[in-house]
Amino acid sequence: MVVKKPKIVIIGAGMAGLTAANKLHTVTGSKDMFELYVLFNTLMDHAQGKKLNDPVSDTEKSELYSYYHKLAAKASNLSATSVGSFLRQGLDDYWSSGSEKKQEELKGYGKWSKKLLEEGIFAMHENAQRTYTSAADLLSLDYRAESEYQMFPGDEITIAKGYLSIIESLASVLPPGTVQLGRKVTKIEWKPERKNHEPMNVDNGYCSRPVKLHFNDGSAMSADHVIITVSLGVLKAAIHDDSGMFYPPLPSFKSEAISRLGFGVVNKIFMQLSPTHERRNEHSKGLFPSLQMVFHSPQSEMRHKKIPWWMRRTATLCPIYNNSSVLLSWFAGKEALALESLRDEEIIQGVSTTLSSFLSHKFCNGNVNSEDKSQGYGVKFSKVLKTKWGTDPLFLGSYSYVAVGSSGDDLDAMAEPLPKDKPLASPPLQILFAGEATHRTHYSTTHGAYFSGLREANRLLQHYHCLGIYN
Ligand SMILES: Cc1cc2nc3c(=O)[nH]c(=O)nc-3n(C[C@H](O)[C@H](O)[C@H](O)COP(=O)(O)OP(=O)(O)OC[C@H]3O[C@@H](n4cnc5c(N)ncnc54)[C@H](O)[C@@H]3O)c2cc1C
Repeated sequence: MVVKKPKIVIIGAGMAGLTAANKLHTVTGSKDMFELYVLFNTLMDHAQGKKLNDPVSDTEKSELYSYYHKLAAKASNLSATSVGSFLRQGLDDYWSSGSEKKQEELKGYGKWSKKLLEEGIFAMHENAQRTYTSAADLLSLDYRAESEYQMFPGDEITIAKGYLSIIESLASVLPPGTVQLGRKVTKIEWKPERKNHEPMNVDNGYCSRPVKLHFNDGSAMSADHVIITVSLGVLKAAIHDDSGMFYPPLPSFKSEAISRLGFGVVNKIFMQLSPTHERRNEHSKGLFPSLQMVFHSPQSEMRHKKIPWWMRRTATLCPIYNNSSVLLSWFAGKEALALESLRDEEIIQGVSTTLSSFLSHKFCNGNVNSEDKSQGYGVKFSKVLKTKWGTDPLFLGSYSYVAVGSSGDDLDAMAEPLPKDKPLASPPLQILFAGEATHRTHYSTTHGAYFSGLREANRLLQHYHCLGIYN
């Protein structure tokens, strides 16, 4: 009898999928031990690296800045429902601790009262937090779970050769044909229970490979083990739209965790300054400063009505590195989604209008006319590049967060392989789950995805008693 090698198929060639493949291959040499495939449908190009330059220099702003961060740090130690409600309570306490002093009108800030300014600065930090966490509304971000989230030690970095270089390096060890592009999985059939008449055999304990994958081109493939690394957004769509992606459907512990956890939309826009701008500013210190933008709260009198609504919760507009002619802004929630359907000219117009209300004529060396003013004081853009994570059917969002009503236990449930608790009744480890949304302490990040890929590769290596032999 021919003994078949176990066949492992990984769905998704992002950080989690390629890390799992890399580990399975480099530990065992998949040619000898496993038949290994990584299937995916799109080239992954998450633009990476976020940087907040130049903390606001004004004393008032700095005072609130440090207060906000103290509050945010404290948020991980106390019990409350959402991060949003905790922070707002903290702001009220801040005001009530010295209300008389803090109500005065501010000299040099136009119509801003001190309270209005503080409200605006606080909202700016909240808006930055929305992009870090992907929670559209901080009132939906679970308060207790924040204490479990672990920051990775060290500074955030921008990878010089781009994030893709890491992905390419992981994939480079895999034999040709292992990674297959353009293979969109539409249905996953698995066997939660063994039928009585199905005989067992000696190699994997079961007669046929228990998982069958169907693709959008009508083809199919069977496997012993499938590691699913698709995003939480794709999994949410799979269970909510009754799309029949899983047959039989996922057990309730899994589908409930998928529903409860949060998966938000965060997008970036990159804007290229036009060569005219570069020429006019060639003698100045830098091409463009790092801007932190403070808006009036929507409840207060709305000034500068021409600033589009989708810009009003944007915290920063910064060069991607010192003196770069490319500026970057982050967007979250419905503003991020709206951006996806805007035309480039609409984005340029909206950002320019916003800038014209923030920048003074000093910015372009006093050399300004009325047309300049309406166009953002000489800041002109020639190109826009934007991400579209919310509407891309292969992502349906950006990264996960622990929503109010879910908890770290749901992230653990995401990582549970299927079938669960029935090792003798059906073939074990048919469907394994990796991806950022399966990591309890590093969810939402590339390193979370990386660790999850290692975890699932190790789970299979352990199952086949390879750990310890090969590493
Ligand atoms: C704007 C933005 C900024 C970010 N900034 C940072 C940062 O600064 N630091 C950080 O650590 N993290 C950051 N992240 C998060 C990080 O990029 C992700 O957490 C990580 O890349 C997720 O990797 P993954 O392997 O879990 O999933 P993914 O990269 O989403 O991989 C899933 C794969 O599954 C494929 N797929 C989906 N459906 C199917 C299907 N039906 N059939 C076949 N294939 C399918 C997709 O094509 C994709 O290849 C950012 C993310 C975004 C969107």
